[in-house]
Amino acid sequence: MLGRLFTAITPKPFGLSPYRRVDSARQSPVALMDNHTLENYLRQQIDASPEEDVTFDWLCGEPSGEKLLFFRDVVAMQARLAGGKRIHNALLIDGYLPDEGWVQFLSHHQWLVELPVCGPQEWHDLARTRRGLAPDHAVIMDTLGRLRQWQVSLRLLVEVNQDNCQHPRGLYEWLRQTGVPFIQFAPRAGSGMPDGLDASRWGHFLNTVFQCWVHRDIGKIFIQQFDAVLGAWCGLKSAPGMTPACQHCEMGWLCHAQPTEPEVKCTLCRGYLDFFTYSAPFMRVMRDLIAQRRSPMELMLLLETGQKKAPQGE
Ligand code: SF4
Repeated sequence: MLGRLFTAITPKPFGLSPYRRVDSARQSPVALMDNHTLENYLRQQIDASPEEDVTFDWLCGEPSGEKLLFFRDVVAMQARLAGGKRIHNALLIDGYLPDEGWVQFLSHHQWLVELPVCGPQEWHDLARTRRGLAPDHAVIMDTLGRLRQWQVSLRLLVEVNQDNCQHPRGLYEWLRQTGVPFIQFAPRAGSGMPDGLDASRWGHFLNTVFQCWVHRDIGKIFIQQFDAVLGAWCGLKSAPGMTPACQHCEMGWLCHAQPTEPEVKCTLCRGYLDFFTYSAPFMRVMRDLIAQRRSPMELMLLLETGQKKAPQGE
């Protein structure tokens, strides 16, 4: 029996941009799967999806030749089992890809690769060394360059911690300069994290980045947190939260950060609520533009020409 790497799958829940909520199950330690189990798993997930597009999220960990063989098998099985549905794959890697075989595979099969990074070298390597890990910013940037050379679709998973959250404009500028249009922020929060965020800093971070983005990057840079809120304004529903606080939260309809376990407490609520409030006037305008079959990018022109200051009230 060949050992196999297995991670979770999440069907694509909304379609404004190629983002999915990062499923916590995917972050769990890898388990092993043989060919038979893998095939059953793929078949079940494809058959169970009511949508024509089925997205698989994979966690790679340390890339190896065996894992590359595994993913080649995945692609072959998916092609056989698709039954007319469109299959998409996203792979979260640690940052290191050992050889061009991996890059060519990802490019050829049009996988979306997710790269974790904390921003420029000083912040990224600081976060690593704080946790007793070796600095690896140079490795990540090397991988990024190789993947871009092969035109692999990329998404940056950007950890936001107590250090880089104090420089939201600088961090956003750096992210823009990478040329990667898809970004997802991952706030570092929770007990036992000495460099974790508090809610007010998270809210300030989101508001400041949103302010930069809304004036010049709508339709050019796609930030998961912003897309998710715009999706909610346009009527796309998020999964309801399981905590009592979420069930009574007035802005729960905008929130994609709701814990799915009743005993988990979100420590960043105040920050999310600040962001929902701050972004609401802009979101309302984009929602209305979309409803009129116009581009939400028109908001940038309105802001530039001063026809529209931060819109007020409903
Ligand atoms: S802001 Fe907090 S309480 Fe409100 S829905 Fe989101 S996670 Fe739940």
